[in-house]
Amino acid sequence: MNFESFNLHPRVAAGVKQVGYVTPTPIQTQAIPVIMQGRDVMGLAQTGTGKTAAFGLPILHRLMDGPRGHVRALIVAPTRELAEQINDAISDMGRQTGLRTVTIYGGVNMNPQIQKLRAGAEIVVACPGRLLDHLGQGTIDLSRVEVAVLDEADRMFDMGFLPDIRRIVKHLPAKRQTLLFSATMPDDVRQLTREVLRDPVTVEIGHMAPAHTVSHALYPVAQHLKTPLLLELLKSIRMDSVLIFTRTKHRARRVAQQLAKAGYEATSLQGNLSQNRRQAAMDGFRDGSYQIMVATDIAARGIDVEQISHVINYDIPDTVDAYTHRIGRTGRAARTGDAFTLITREDDEMVRAVEAKLKTRIERRTLDGFDYNAPAPARDTEFARPPRPQASRPQTPRRQAPRPQAPSARQGQETPARNANNTPDEPRAPRPRANGHKTPDTPRPAGGYGKIYRPRRQQGR
Ligand code: AMP
Repeated sequence: MNFESFNLHPRVAAGVKQVGYVTPTPIQTQAIPVIMQGRDVMGLAQTGTGKTAAFGLPILHRLMDGPRGHVRALIVAPTRELAEQINDAISDMGRQTGLRTVTIYGGVNMNPQIQKLRAGAEIVVACPGRLLDHLGQGTIDLSRVEVAVLDEADRMFDMGFLPDIRRIVKHLPAKRQTLLFSATMPDDVRQLTREVLRDPVTVEIGHMAPAHTVSHALYPVAQHLKTPLLLELLKSIRMDSVLIFTRTKHRARRVAQQLAKAGYEATSLQGNLSQNRRQAAMDGFRDGSYQIMVATDIAARGIDVEQISHVINYDIPDTVDAYTHRIGRTGRAARTGDAFTLITREDDEMVRAVEAKLKTRIERRTLDGFDYNAPAPARDTEFARPPRPQASRPQTPRRQAPRPQAPSARQGQETPARNANNTPDEPRAPRPRANGHKTPDTPRPAGGYGKIYRPRRQQGR
């Protein structure tokens, strides 16, 4: 099987060649022909399977015919990182098509987005919140959209975006092609597929099973000794890239600072970063200039580093799903990886739940020579106490939260603290978590990211 057999428009086929794809991935083999026939598709596939090209190529092919200068394809994605990735991939593949794309997400100035829309972009890659802002202001017209893609629908559900999606869909013409991709199919997403897809063809790609290639270990330790233990642990392992998860943004920043102080090339990804600093942290981790990334679950979305050798849970996550998804970031495909979790006494219950899910007892390890009875380091008072219980934070169900009128009052899709003018955004009400997660820092990250088919793209385009 090769790409010629799809009979893509020559300019699109040229783009495929240019990006260097030779053999279609399984999802592409299955999905491209049916999408080219104009059918609705429900794709069960994770990022890393080549799904962007699976929907991107047929979209480019379709748009080669027909009018230009207005929005004809809409791709909705949960996070700005994913939106950027999709946009990059489509722009690369579509380099010879003359079609124009624009990304739409919050946390940055709206004006450049408006200008690109006015200039006549045909393809829009958007996160839900900012897209609704544009719809509210009348700066985008979706009435002539021919193809709509809802990507990572399960994440959008996790992040509380389903009501937004339903509102967006109301702005689309009834006669359209709709493609929905999701790594998992929770009931609410299944319900959404019934609402938005017409007689869909289901395309399913087997899940990667990280649990088989990842070795797990638990490191019992007192709360105040987590950082010293982490430092010892890092000394004892041969690592490529290490992704460390903490429960809160503050802890992510602090742990990264402590690691940097200890001489590691470490950075953190958490909600308080400006878009530029976020991007710099991601790029640095991807290109290896940072060996260690410390992140919260939500901030870690979009990390697509191939060579993650170790995932370390500085704090155990508060759901079993989050555990499996976190460690899904290492040990992709045939690689092996290690997943270490620092646990304290309070984590017993969650450990039991994780073991029940994995159907195995996880090895408890102690580090030789580490003083488990040491008192708390004098200046490290923050880490001498457990993270603040999530439930104690105020919660405002998003559905009940009034939508701010002024666009500047809205944050970006995920975690931006500052907008493009570098002025702090107002805090946004936490989204409700139908699955029991409580704050924006602890949703269930669905599926892992992984670029498994070709070396990562050159940075700095
Ligand atoms: P995605 O799941 O769309 O994020 O794609 C994962 C990675 O696979 C990206 O780096 C793509 O550039 C790459 N990729 C997608 N399709 C192919 C293909 N047919 N051959 C080689 N690499 C591919």
